[in-house]
Amino acid sequence: MMAKSEVGMADSSPAGDFLHPLQETMPREQLAELQLARLRESVRNAHDNVPMQRARLRAAGVSPDDIRTLADLQRLPFTVKTDLRDHYPFGMFARPVAGLARLHASSGTTGKPTVVGYTRDDLETWADLMARTLRCAGARPGDVIHNAFGYGLFTGGLGAHYGAERMGGVIVPASGGSTERQVALIMDFGARVLCATPSYALAIAEMAEQSGVDLRKSALRVGMFGAEPWSEAMRREIEARLGLQAIDNYGLSEVMGPGVAVECAQQDGMHGWEDHFLFEVIDPDTLQPMGEGEAGELVITTLTKQALPMLRYRTRDITRISTAPCACGRTHLRLLRVAGRSDDMLIVRGVNVYPSQIEAVLVGLPRIAPHYLLVVERRGSLDHVSVEVEARAGVPAEQFQAIAHDVAHHIKSLVGISTDVTVKPPGEIPRSQGKAVRVRDLRPPPRLAQ
Ligand SMILES: [Zn+2]
Repeated sequence: MMAKSEVGMADSSPAGDFLHPLQETMPREQLAELQLARLRESVRNAHDNVPMQRARLRAAGVSPDDIRTLADLQRLPFTVKTDLRDHYPFGMFARPVAGLARLHASSGTTGKPTVVGYTRDDLETWADLMARTLRCAGARPGDVIHNAFGYGLFTGGLGAHYGAERMGGVIVPASGGSTERQVALIMDFGARVLCATPSYALAIAEMAEQSGVDLRKSALRVGMFGAEPWSEAMRREIEARLGLQAIDNYGLSEVMGPGVAVECAQQDGMHGWEDHFLFEVIDPDTLQPMGEGEAGELVITTLTKQALPMLRYRTRDITRISTAPCACGRTHLRLLRVAGRSDDMLIVRGVNVYPSQIEAVLVGLPRIAPHYLLVVERRGSLDHVSVEVEARAGVPAEQFQAIAHDVAHHIKSLVGISTDVTVKPPGEIPRSQGKAVRVRDLRPPPRLAQ
């Protein structure tokens, strides 16, 4: 209902930094009032229209009328990914299917897919927020926006697509794959903005270099990357090879899709759009809220979703929150770089390891290309980690062994685990077309299912 009015408030000045200046710079006290009013609506929607949510709220002893302050959020039960699978396909929806306008689904590695639905108004809100997100990232009306996120059931492609159109961009729906053609289209159409996963952005850079195309001399200025965790070192590598400012954005289909949070030009944390989402950080073990600046699991409550209201959705992503003022003038809190998913965290001989930590080591080494694969196995009772890396073009094979030794030494000293490193010739590690597969965990399941 409120989504449509926001379009009318768009800043018409072409030099303006904000697509929705009133919302993006709203004083935090006013933002909190808006959040409380919308939270009450959202809890009411879940309670009245989703039997499973009503039962849970009753079990927790909370009714929608009990939400009097934002602190009452703590009384609401959590929602987890398995809830969506357990109520497959439509059991979490607050609207009949005939009243929806679109369905998306993500394929799970195990079991049933996760299905999400949108009303017509939900799609309007999503397009508005994604337009705001692109503008915040540095896109401007009239920009050619090359969208290499996959189109289809995955929310990345269509999410960026409709946002780019609403922002006033010229969208090129490239989707994933045919990397050589993508390079040609970026050059020929004069794309100023590239949307992709960070790993696919690197694959595009590599293909360009192999074809003798210098993307640093192209019109590209802004890269909006997301859908997988990436390190600061990877960001600098992408910026150097593509000649653009690489902006991190965050979203997940369970709460909407892309467009939930995005960096501004400061590149110092992603502004989470608090007029549509409530963000919390909790200790994943005790489920208690963490203080500002403390790392923990990100939990999101939707404030305006009609078809699929989410109460305290546990994202499994690890982050920290800052409400400190940002130089860009936006008042919305910042999610300080998502370090990785708690699901992705490997516990190797008792040491907590995120693949992004190993990535940060690899990307910093001069003779290594930024492609890698971690294989974790159980040998006897001990965990064993193999790291496959790739030499840069032109590095002689006689150096591979010395490089491997060097890489293992750096991982040991910076991450704290011993690894077996193999250096492979350029091009031997499979490239991703979408979300990269960086880890093969061949150990028996580490914990009981939820
Ligand atoms: Zn900012």
